Amino acid sequence: MPANADKTEAPPLPEPLRVPVADSHTHLDMQSGTVGEGLAKAASVGVTTVVQVGCDVAGSRWAAEAAAAHDAVHAAVALHPNEAPRIVHGDPDGWSRQGAREPGGQAALDDALAEIDRLAALPQVKGVGETGLDYFRTGEEGRAAQERSFRAHIEIAKRHGKTLVIHDRDAHADVLRVLKEEGAPERTVFHCYSGDAEMAEVCARAGYFMSFAGNVTFKNAQHLRDALAVAPPELVLVETDAPFLTPAPYRGRPNAPYLIPVTVRAMAAVRGVDEDTMATALAANTARAFGY
Ligand SMILES: [Zn+2]
Ligand SMILES: [Zn+2]
Repeated sequence: MPANADKTEAPPLPEPLRVPVADSHTHLDMQSGTVGEGLAKAASVGVTTVVQVGCDVAGSRWAAEAAAAHDAVHAAVALHPNEAPRIVHGDPDGWSRQGAREPGGQAALDDALAEIDRLAALPQVKGVGETGLDYFRTGEEGRAAQERSFRAHIEIAKRHGKTLVIHDRDAHADVLRVLKEEGAPERTVFHCYSGDAEMAEVCARAGYFMSFAGNVTFKNAQHLRDALAVAPPELVLVETDAPFLTPAPYRGRPNAPYLIPVTVRAMAAVRGVDEDTMATALAANTARAFGY
């Protein structure tokens, strides 16, 4: 991309995939255009299914409604790991689309979790997440609330027989520890997999799915490509995490599910397989991971 190109401009449509795949993790509510437009654009290049992920109570309700309204959408519902401490402490610099809010204490977290529990029972809701631990955005003071929320989400996922979607940022050891202590649900997905090859072997032994995002294409992300190279082919998923993590060469520009083919092609190259083989595996894995 030339240095003077407009960073806000949507990247062009990639060449369509011949074998349709799913975007295993996206945030349509943070992208421009309507849901219908986003889905149509994605479908035009072979991305026929998306998992819409909620990050707070309002976003989780939105995800459940979008999944009820569109056959191509499945929902996951949760309080994001950076959202849980905000509910308890009201951290104004934390992760949220809603800006600062009043601190609500443990009772407010329990109320929010009860609503996630209610949404998790809905048939169009296939996943509970993204939950987990984020030590990048949340400091020491928020960690107790974060871990408490993570444990509650694991329990909710297991009780409803839904897939657990993990957000793990700079917290690999503690995420794996909590999963082990609580006992992971039958199906667990590490979204935006960020570990190295060694951790991929740990996940493989536990049967955890590893979902790769656009950052697997980044020059400085050799550890992700090393992890992808050793991950069992039946445990690998692809996602956008859009509007974030736009794959190279469009890094920094707005991401959306229609850009999945760019990442699929990069993943096929890392694994030394052709694009159709990669896409066939990804499609089957995502359906199995989310039980649809
Ligand atoms: Zn995440
Ligand atoms: Zn996400």
